[in-house]
Amino acid sequence: METIWVLGDQLNRSLGALGTATPSTARLLFVESAAKISSKRFHRQRLHLVLTAMRRFAGECREEGFEVDYRAAPHLAAGLEAHRRDFGPSRVMATEPLSRSSWTLLDRLGVEFHRSDQFLCHHEDFAEWARGRRVLRMEDFYRWQRRRLGYLMEGDEPAGGQWNFDRSNREPPPKGPPPWPPPPVDDLDDLDAEVLALLPETAWGDAPTGLWATTRTGALRRLRHFVDEVLPGFGPHEDAMTTRSWHLAHSLLSPYLNIGLLLPGEVCDAVEGAYRRGTVSIESAEGFIRQVIGWREFVWGIYWLRPEMAGSNVLGGTRPLPPAFEGEVGTAMRCVADTLDGVRRRGWVHHIQRLMVLANLATLAGVRPQALLEWMWSRFVDGAEWVMVPNVIGMGMWADGGGMSSKPYVSGGAYIARMSDYCGDCAFDPTRRTGERACPFTTLYWDFLARHRSRLEGNHRMALVLGGLGRLRDLDATRARASEILGALDSGDL
Ligand code: SF4
Repeated sequence: METIWVLGDQLNRSLGALGTATPSTARLLFVESAAKISSKRFHRQRLHLVLTAMRRFAGECREEGFEVDYRAAPHLAAGLEAHRRDFGPSRVMATEPLSRSSWTLLDRLGVEFHRSDQFLCHHEDFAEWARGRRVLRMEDFYRWQRRRLGYLMEGDEPAGGQWNFDRSNREPPPKGPPPWPPPPVDDLDDLDAEVLALLPETAWGDAPTGLWATTRTGALRRLRHFVDEVLPGFGPHEDAMTTRSWHLAHSLLSPYLNIGLLLPGEVCDAVEGAYRRGTVSIESAEGFIRQVIGWREFVWGIYWLRPEMAGSNVLGGTRPLPPAFEGEVGTAMRCVADTLDGVRRRGWVHHIQRLMVLANLATLAGVRPQALLEWMWSRFVDGAEWVMVPNVIGMGMWADGGGMSSKPYVSGGAYIARMSDYCGDCAFDPTRRTGERACPFTTLYWDFLARHRSRLEGNHRMALVLGGLGRLRDLDATRARASEILGALDSGDL
């Protein structure tokens, strides 16, 4: 009998090699690798999510009648070797792994691959789409996906008459009590406690609270909650940040999509259905579907297309991450403190906090991109190599020099002040770039532009801000303050 090796991010009965398997055609192998668990300082909730979900899924397969070999091993290769010795499978199959390192390892171990259908656009099809294009832009890919998959289409035209409703989706947080319902939470049980007991002492962040589901049933419940209760308010405030609600109207579904408990097609079908029933506006439905079939699949394709991206550092960042990222010290920057608190408590903050607070600060300060990559990959509950390499190296830090976005996603405090309620009670003032109360984002923004002026000069999208830099009368004083801020950032005194 053959064995199907199910990896920790492929936990779905209808996925790849498992889709057609039956208890009479295949036995299943799951390996918990001690080396993998301790390979990074992972967030406790990330380790708990993956390991508990693996154990629960293996149990469900066992109940269905599969013979399941679930084993803990020093590393993946040792787990497979022991399985081969104990069971003598005719061959070992796996659905194509999501990361390049797992692909290389399993291939070397003689595992045969079944084509993955975990994404709506396989990375080979993405490479075909990309062939011959001088510039790869998400918006072009997204429209190709919409046409090809048929989401939110009226014949050949986009529903609502526009491809993109971004302009309607950039509102700051509303005044008054937060209108967004809280997410469902489950009680923890004995299996949760069993997994928590085996986590390494080096694991980072707060313990799980039942926020993150560890079964497909739980993930489907959260999908229903999102579509019925949250999605109608998703669009307008999708880029807003507020201390009054950590989740706003975000779906919180990425952890499940990234380990297979949910699949992108069923999530988009549910959202399209709500739009067709008239319970959700086109702005909200389009904004969400773009995140899934646009951004998420674009990031996935880019990861496979550009293996060199992970090591890129065109802006030459060398600085370590500020100590506040490890939680060793606090910070007076309210936007950063609130965002880091969210990462510590839940292993999750939304895309604008990731991009315009964390990655923005790291880019402006000249942090080594791979230091932020390692941190984000390990500290987020939805972290994975394929997610974080393009998002951190390409988009967040522009370390690939523009392969993913035409200009760096950097801003001073003005953007954060407009899109959040952080600045009001902050020790700093987003409008100041010099003096004690200068907002670090604002000061470092001008310093960043001055540092990289020659590289950015040829970029027409930077012409306006570089023109502003040329007119800055207090540039010397701003750069002197930037140097003080960078020193304080390094020593944990900011
Ligand atoms: Fe962040 Fe600057 Fe606003 Fe403070 S003033 S919250 S540091 S953007």
